[in-house]
Amino acid sequence: MYADFELRSSPLYRSSALVSRPVAAGSTILRIPALSAVLLPEQKGLRCDTCFSPRSERKGLSRCTGCHLYWYCSAQCQAMAWRAHHKRLCRHLPSFVESGEYDPARSLESLLLMHLIAEHFSSPASLELFASTTNVDNALPGDAKPVNLDDPLSTLLSLLPHPAPQPAPPLPRLSVSIDTNIASYLSARAPNNHFTLHDSYLTSFAHGIFPAASRSFNHSCVPTAVAIYEGTIMQVKTLVAMQAGEEITLPYVDPAMPYVQRQETLLSSYGFKCACARCEMQTISLSHPIPAARNSQEYADLETSLYNRVLKFPSSQSIALPQTISQLDLTSNLQRSLEDDTLLPRLSSTFSDASHDGQFNASRRSGLALLAVYVLIYPQNYPLIGLHCLELAKTWWNEFISSGSICLLVETQKFLRWAEEVLMISGSKGEGGGDSAWESLLMLQGLVQEELRSTGTGV
Ligand SMILES: [Zn+2]
Ligand SMILES: [Zn+2]
Ligand SMILES: [Zn+2]
Repeated sequence: MYADFELRSSPLYRSSALVSRPVAAGSTILRIPALSAVLLPEQKGLRCDTCFSPRSERKGLSRCTGCHLYWYCSAQCQAMAWRAHHKRLCRHLPSFVESGEYDPARSLESLLLMHLIAEHFSSPASLELFASTTNVDNALPGDAKPVNLDDPLSTLLSLLPHPAPQPAPPLPRLSVSIDTNIASYLSARAPNNHFTLHDSYLTSFAHGIFPAASRSFNHSCVPTAVAIYEGTIMQVKTLVAMQAGEEITLPYVDPAMPYVQRQETLLSSYGFKCACARCEMQTISLSHPIPAARNSQEYADLETSLYNRVLKFPSSQSIALPQTISQLDLTSNLQRSLEDDTLLPRLSSTFSDASHDGQFNASRRSGLALLAVYVLIYPQNYPLIGLHCLELAKTWWNEFISSGSICLLVETQKFLRWAEEVLMISGSKGEGGGDSAWESLLMLQGLVQEELRSTGTGV
């Protein structure tokens, strides 16, 4: 199961996950089901509470007639949930949710902890495992001991606690007794070890616990891998080809977050200061003052130089996206403009407003500049780059529809190829319901090729 990497001791962290043999970009290095996972409150009733597949016209959801709080896509999913945890929760949930004890701000934490305990920590065997794993003279459990990643429960117990854990959130009464030591031990490890599950458009839908991934992969702001989700299954996929001995890292926070905010979040939520290559580079560039707010002409010039310099669009003959920041000879001015916290939000809101209003020139400029910034900030093949190329393809296609200009059609095809290249590596092929980014890409590709054929431009 973990043939492609091994945990090795590391000078900076507990351990590092190193690739044990050469792997290609887009390799699945780990594929595991969630030990426990719960839907975000706003997704309740929109996805099945067991398999997380979205409600669709073809497939409705039926509501639990006991608590009225869980929804299922099939009798099978309902039976699975019932056996796993729901029979211990169902009749206690409604009164808990209505009680003064219930804290909506911590509802996800409560639910995740409740599922974990009801499903995995209510048998005598699990209580014994807890006692034997954690009772080592208060030493951090499992620190020096080798960990068996195939055993999710003992791996979970070996995880490091949050640097400043809160007391356990309120829990409902369950039809099993709750050991308060276990509840506070697990709760101290939840906020810094859970993952946010997202669909192929990177929209979050659930929180889940995947102990082997938490225990194995360190953070980097230039990660070599990303996690993607299909229902409750996590896949960790490499973004680049890797040699034996290279480290697999995941982004714990969005690499686009400004440097200071990123470091603060990593320190307060995970207890470390990041010293990755990008952070080192930014420490140096931060010693120069950040450019003052620009007037609209300067801003327009910045947009133009960003995409001319980075994308060389549309004059570039080559079809490939520029790959890494080091390959690009940026002027120091351009380099520093990336440190301006307002640049990314400004570009993305200009792009979405202009696209929404059908102002092609404005959306063209901001959309290309935004792609340039993504290419500079994110590692090669990061899913957001592919999704943005798909967005650009849709923008160009819409303009082609209204103007009929063939060169827009050719450019649409270029963005689709870029999107395909990235999403083949780091995208998710689908989550059911027929509305994945991948399906949307294939559909537009089909339309573009049909148009190109009919205009005799060739494919
Ligand atoms: Zn289901
Ligand atoms: Zn119920
Ligand atoms: Zn970093």
